Amino acid sequence: QPVVGVLALQGGVAEHLAILESLGVRAVRVRSASDVLGDDGAAVIDALVLPGGESSTMDRLCRTFGLFDPLRQVISAGLPVLGTCAGLIMLATQIEDPAPGQQSLGVLDVTVARNAFGSQVDSAEVALEWAGSGAASGRNDVGDRAAADALGPTADAANTPSDVVRVAFIRAPAVTRVGERMEVLARYRDAVVAVRQGNILGISFHPELTGDTTVHEELLGLVRTRRSVEASAA
Ligand code: GLN
Repeated sequence: QPVVGVLALQGGVAEHLAILESLGVRAVRVRSASDVLGDDGAAVIDALVLPGGESSTMDRLCRTFGLFDPLRQVISAGLPVLGTCAGLIMLATQIEDPAPGQQSLGVLDVTVARNAFGSQVDSAEVALEWAGSGAASGRNDVGDRAAADALGPTADAANTPSDVVRVAFIRAPAVTRVGERMEVLARYRDAVVAVRQGNILGISFHPELTGDTTVHEELLGLVRTRRSVEASAA
């Protein structure tokens, strides 16, 4: 049974724990370095969620609690991670409009703009086209997904990503630049709002507030992929 940590210094933690438990994994709160790293320097969790909240506060607390470097270390070593909203900002290499002194882990090669959707979409529940489970399918962005749909159900049968994910935007950031090797998983109002770079999923929105489990299942898919890669290498 995989163990999934949820960074629990600040922000929306309980809903993530509940969804993960409902998917049959053990979900634990991460508050200190020993919740992430063992004495041998290896991760003690199989995946990690960085929740929504307020990214500059989360950043400051991460450093106060000695979590900044351990998180960078395990993510860089391939730990599957899902950063949502403030958690996406924490992962980014670049923040367009950081709060004074705000840093980020710098492991996901994107630029983000905080609070990018303005007061109009300050807070909204929406359904987005989701191009996930593309890890194995090679279907790389929402455009490809539309093309596949045009070919009808047969073309779609080889892989079965969820078509639509129901999510909440709450003072959400947008991805304004994507690095190379980045899969775009969703867009909203012409902006990129979900990406995957290898073991790292970064999404602008909250996937834990609508009862939709698509995004968490995507993370658990990365855990299975990593396990099978490691098993075949052993
Ligand atoms: N606007 C917040 C920030 O900049 C993120 C909002 C959220 O996580 N829901 O950190």
